[in-house]
Amino acid sequence: MIHDFTYLRPGTLQEALAMLADRKEDSKIICGGQSLLILMRQGLVVTEYLIDLKGLNELSYITYNDKEGLRIGAVTTHRTLEKSELVREKYPVLVDVEKRLASIQVRNWGTIAGNLAHGDSSGDLAPTLIALDATIKLSSSRGSRILPLEELYTGLFETALSRDELVEEVQVPPPAPGRAAAYEKFNLIESDQAIVGVAATVTGDPEGCCKDARIVLSNAALTPVRARNAEQVLIGKRLDEELLTKAGEAASGEADPLSDIHASAEYRHHLVKVLTQRMVRQAWQEALHTAT
Ligand SMILES: Cc1cc2nc3c(=O)[nH]c(=O)nc-3n(C[C@H](O)[C@H](O)[C@H](O)COP(=O)(O)OP(=O)(O)OC[C@H]3O[C@@H](n4cnc5c(N)ncnc54)[C@H](O)[C@@H]3O)c2cc1C
Repeated sequence: MIHDFTYLRPGTLQEALAMLADRKEDSKIICGGQSLLILMRQGLVVTEYLIDLKGLNELSYITYNDKEGLRIGAVTTHRTLEKSELVREKYPVLVDVEKRLASIQVRNWGTIAGNLAHGDSSGDLAPTLIALDATIKLSSSRGSRILPLEELYTGLFETALSRDELVEEVQVPPPAPGRAAAYEKFNLIESDQAIVGVAATVTGDPEGCCKDARIVLSNAALTPVRARNAEQVLIGKRLDEELLTKAGEAASGEADPLSDIHASAEYRHHLVKVLTQRMVRQAWQEALHTAT
């Protein structure tokens, strides 16, 4: 049963920020409600005020320019991202991720900011956006701040958002020359949440060496995990199968997964190893292809 609450529907971002500031002790933002309503129904979230951002059309946009890169407004839906020609052209990995994220019904209503702010370590978007070096714009009536997305996550379902802050925008830098990205999640039911997921970006240089790499794990710890040791195995080297195996082992060592009804921690370690090898290989092959 959902506990009683007062429903507030701001007409503008400024109004939403003022509502949050006035009621920060006992309010919760709702957008698509795809995650929040489940928790409210279970009694895990109880709040006096629900502030609904869904109608804020000023926060529904996808823009791109070569200097600043991609900007995604908070209330943009998954489906809008999936169907964006702009995103398909510049960041095809985001379209790949969206196609396998939940069902079309959830993607039609669920939003990008809702997905990221929910802080679920099994989410698909956060690891992929972190691998793409994304930042997030957090706003309150006190002003705005930009945070690297990887710094948003502080614990299981916990984020660095203050009680009077909301996510206003997600920012992704322009694609680096020679860089390619890949994401794959392992799940048993198509479009279900990841048992484990791995995102990788690899940048090749003209000599055929790996200039940069970012590897980020989903559902392999309480938050998305940047596998920095695995990245270091690759950077500055000409990649081969031996290095991919070493990177997979390093990533597995950086994972700290839980056991649950879906998989044991041991199996998740194994998945991290295999998927890291696979995603780095896929991104590397594409990066080399792009470079030639
Ligand atoms: C059946 C099902 C399957 C799913 N499968 C997947 C999957 O495979 N992969 C995956 O990644 N996700 C999956 N999800 C999660 C889904 O992507 C999210 O539920 C959805 O994106 C959340 O967006 P929302 O707008 O509905 O957020 P809401 O449910 O409205 O909010 C979620 C949380 O974010 C906060 N919030 C929302 N907007 C903001 C904002 N602008 N600023 C600050 N805080 C905000 C809310 O307060 C709440 O804590 C699944 C969900 C369901 C129901």
